[in-house]
Amino acid sequence: MSNFMDLDQNGKAQAYYIWIDGSGQNIRGKTKTLDHPVTSPDELPEWNFDGSSTNQSTGENSDVYIKPVSIFKDPFRRGDNILVMCECYAPDGSPLPTNRRNACNKIMEKHKDQKPWFGIEQEYTLFDDTGKHPLGWPKNGFPGPQGPYYCGVGANRVKGRKIVEAHYRACLYAGVKIAGSNAEVMPSQWEYQVGPCEGIEMGDHLWVSRYILARVAEEFDVVVSFDPKPIPGDWNGAGCHTNISTLEMRKVGGMEHIIKAIEKMGKKHDEHIAEYDPTNGADNARRLTGLHETASIHQFSYGVANRGASIRIPRQCEKDGYGYFEDRRPASNCDPYAVTARIVASICE
Ligand code: ADP
Ligand code: MN
Ligand code: MN
Ligand code: MN
Repeated sequence: MSNFMDLDQNGKAQAYYIWIDGSGQNIRGKTKTLDHPVTSPDELPEWNFDGSSTNQSTGENSDVYIKPVSIFKDPFRRGDNILVMCECYAPDGSPLPTNRRNACNKIMEKHKDQKPWFGIEQEYTLFDDTGKHPLGWPKNGFPGPQGPYYCGVGANRVKGRKIVEAHYRACLYAGVKIAGSNAEVMPSQWEYQVGPCEGIEMGDHLWVSRYILARVAEEFDVVVSFDPKPIPGDWNGAGCHTNISTLEMRKVGGMEHIIKAIEKMGKKHDEHIAEYDPTNGADNARRLTGLHETASIHQFSYGVANRGASIRIPRQCEKDGYGYFEDRRPASNCDPYAVTARIVASICE
C-alpha cells in the first residue's frame, strides 16, 4: 500500500467525515477531497449522506446533513489529511435523535466557568473476523479462568497487543488525548484511557479514538466489540468508567464538593442509567450485576477505593482531600456526549 500512499496529492487534501449512525453506537464515515489543507472545522463545507442506509431517515426523505465540529490529523493517510467529527441534522435544521452532541455542547457552554474535566476508561474486546469468536480463544471451549490476564504479558496471557500498540501511536499522532492503556481481566479484553478533557472535548476525542481503534483492527482482520458483556458467565464485562472533576473539586478542600456532587447524582440514579448505554439500560443490565467489579444496576452506592460501588473515590483523593471521582456505571458502548451531559446536568444545575 505504501507505494500508493506515498504518491503526491497535488495540493489536495482528504477529509474523512465521521458520524454516529442510527444505532447510536456505530461509526460511519466517508471521504471528501479538499482543494487545500484546512486547520479549523469552520473552513470545512457541510455535507450529507443517505440516512435511509444508516437507520437515520426514510427512503423518501433520505438526506441527512453532517456538520463538521472538530478535526484531527489522519494517522492512516498522514500529511495534510484529516479526520472530521460531525454532527447530524435533519433538513429542517433540527439535530437527529442520535446527535447527542448538540445538547451536550449547550450544557457544557452553560457551565464552562466550572471547567468540568473528564477522563474515560474505554474497555473493549477483540474478536476474530467473524465477529463471533474472541481473538485467540481456543476454537472449542474456554481459556483458563480469569486471574493471569489483567496487565499480563506473554502469548498465553494477552492477545492482540499489536493492535493496542498501533492504536496508541495512531491516537498520539492524531492529537487524541490518550492517557494510557492496559490489558484487562478477561483475555482479549483491553482498556485505554482518554483525558483529562474539558467539556465537549471528551466526547469528540473518545469517538475519534473509537474510529481509530476499529480502523486499526481492520488492518489486522480483527473486529472490535464494545458490547458491555460480550461473553456471558464468569467473565468481566466492559465499561467506560468516567472520571469527573470540577474546578472546585480540584482545589484544596475539594472533597466537600466531591461528596455533594456524588449525592446529587445518587438522587438521579435511574436518569443516569438511562443515558449510560444506547438501549436505556438494557445492555448495561447484563453487565451491572453486582459481580465482576460492578455494583447492581438497581442500587446506587459510593465508597473510597470500592470497585464494587457505583461511584468510587480514589484512595489518593481521599488522602489529599481533593481531586476527582469515578462513575463506574457507563457501559463500553455508551455515548460519551450523553454521559458527560447527564453528569454535568446532575452536578451543576
Ligand atoms: P482506574 O484506577 O480506575 O483503572 P485509570 O488510571 O484507568 O483508573 O483512569 C483514570 C482516568 O482519570 C484517566 O483517564 C485520567 O485522565 C483521569 N483523570 C485524572 N485526573 C482527573 C481529574 N482531575 N478529573 C477528571 N479525570 C481525571
Ligand atoms: Mn482503568
Ligand atoms: Mn478497566
Ligand atoms: Mn476505573
